[in-house]
Amino acid sequence: MGIGLYLHIPFCWKKCHYCDFLSFPLSSRETLHHYVQYLKKEIKLWTLTAAEKNIETLYFGGGTPSLLTPKLLGEILATISQHFPLEENFEFTVEANPGTLSYDFLKEYINEGVNRISLGVQSFDEPMLKRMGRTHSVREVEESVVLARRAGIKNIGFDLIYGLPEQSLSQWENTLKIAVELAPEHLSVYGLSLENSSHWALKRKRGELFLPDQDALADMYFLSREILLSHGYEHYEISNFAKPGFRCWHNLKYWKLEPYIGMGLGASSYINNRRIKNASKMEDYTGSLDGGKLPFETVEKLSLKEEMSEFMFLGLRTAEGVNTRDFFEKFGTHVQQVYGKEVEFLLRHGILWEKNGRLILNPRYYPVANEVFLRFI
Ligand code: SF4
Repeated sequence: MGIGLYLHIPFCWKKCHYCDFLSFPLSSRETLHHYVQYLKKEIKLWTLTAAEKNIETLYFGGGTPSLLTPKLLGEILATISQHFPLEENFEFTVEANPGTLSYDFLKEYINEGVNRISLGVQSFDEPMLKRMGRTHSVREVEESVVLARRAGIKNIGFDLIYGLPEQSLSQWENTLKIAVELAPEHLSVYGLSLENSSHWALKRKRGELFLPDQDALADMYFLSREILLSHGYEHYEISNFAKPGFRCWHNLKYWKLEPYIGMGLGASSYINNRRIKNASKMEDYTGSLDGGKLPFETVEKLSLKEEMSEFMFLGLRTAEGVNTRDFFEKFGTHVQQVYGKEVEFLLRHGILWEKNGRLILNPRYYPVANEVFLRFI
């Protein structure tokens, strides 16, 4: 089985007001160039740990990876292909922010093998985009889609956020309707989550930001499902929708508990039953690599019980659910033997369904999935 490879590019033009991801405003082009040299060191070092692993999916996430010039992207790819076998027709995604792409740029990306673009759209409400601190307009989203299509990208994804400050159901409906008119192959729909130190999180703590309540969030979530299903999208994971044949194979690896390596600042890996997290401070990251060491901050070996638990709750995030035969093949024991009581309770209450040897979460419970998953932890 091939593995997934994620590369983190932690730079953006500026910080969005809601963002608590590991990303920084890009101070200069040299900073990006410098960072790429460290990524290349990390790729080389990983071959000692993960030699001979075929790469099935490659995902540049961030941050704003589309700040990478095609030349820098090509440098990284060349280093990867020198050290890891790349499978034929591997899925190659680059996250991009509207306004950072040009036709020539996209053509060169395609020449480097990029076959999927994931656009950080977030909203089609112009005043809301400004309020969020996004650096692009609605028009730039539309232009990016036209450019990507003209350049030859056949697989475009949008990220959208609902539950924004004072957002009404009809405003969200409007965003969804414009999104489906542009016909991306993939849509990720996330509820706003404000963590720790983002500008909005601080405003909220001071009582200056008002978010929709839980009922309004559930209405927005189910409206997304209704509109997207009626436009031919499959709801294949709690937050993800795709036209048939366009599921994101990279992300499916996470939900199927398949191995992946994350490289770059703060990136996470799951390989050889270990969860690994890279250093999230730039000086620690570069310092380890300068010393010839992989920049690990934590390495945690999962116990059998933890692996089983992750297999259950990650699998239940997907519409296919957990294949009980796969569980047996992986762990040498039946789901019923480990989680008999929990499964029986959830089936009895219609929270889980059993179909053709699969346990599937009833979509009615998607908004409260984390509470259901607690039963497996
Ligand atoms: S573009 Fe994405 S990663 Fe960058 S600041 Fe905005 S939300 Fe955060």
